[in-house]
Amino acid sequence: MKKRMMALLLAGVMAATMCGCGSKDDGKKVYKVATDTTFAPFEFENDEGNMVGIDLDLLKAIAEDQGFEYEIEYVGFSAAVTALEAGEVDAVIAGMSITDERKETFDFSDAYYDADVTMAVAAGSSIASYDDLNGKKVAVKTATNGSDYAKSIADQYGFDIVEFKDSPTMYQDVITGNTVACFEDYPVMAYNIKQGAGMEMPEGTTAAGSSYGFAVQKGQNAELLEMFNKGLADIKANGTYQEIVDKYTK
Ligand code: GLN
Repeated sequence: MKKRMMALLLAGVMAATMCGCGSKDDGKKVYKVATDTTFAPFEFENDEGNMVGIDLDLLKAIAEDQGFEYEIEYVGFSAAVTALEAGEVDAVIAGMSITDERKETFDFSDAYYDADVTMAVAAGSSIASYDDLNGKKVAVKTATNGSDYAKSIADQYGFDIVEFKDSPTMYQDVITGNTVACFEDYPVMAYNIKQGAGMEMPEGTTAAGSSYGFAVQKGQNAELLEMFNKGLADIKANGTYQEIVDKYTK
């Protein structure tokens, strides 16, 4: 299995050498993968100052299983998506939801994690439902499906939207009280609350389920997508996938 893989990789060496870009001295392709800056537990800086998380561990295990090399660029969510659209990177792994709209621009791997969207408010807030948002300001993170969801109900519930570039800044704005609530992916909000984020999720405000996928530009990098899917299936079968998830969520 390994030997056949090497042969396939060698076949790719010549094209990579001619291009001279995105390859190491030995000519092996090094895929550029963009991700978010802070989206715990999927990618975030730990107490030792290292970037860790489910996305990063999964990608590492999958790359090892499939024998490909990559480098990560921590650029933020909307910047990662824009970079992929422009072809500046080969892929995105960033807790990125597979949506019909995005499928017009990107090809996605098999789903590797399920996540609902939830509303979150400052701990002790009087905001308990969407009805309480009338006339208030609500925080969202640019270009996320949490943002799309908030926008889809903003008129109905009469709230205004304020956009933030990253999750921590968005939470801080809610905790400070400039905005009364935010919309975020449930597993991310739950993790941050468990870590003491000073926020809570009012009952009955979880909606719009989605699944995360590894994305490449539409029609590009089919071989990378295939390796990701094969590697994902392998690490699910051998227990590595569950170990990684448990490490960050248990
Ligand atoms: N899952 C959300 C989306 O894809 C948010 C991703 C993120 O903020 N990193 O839009």
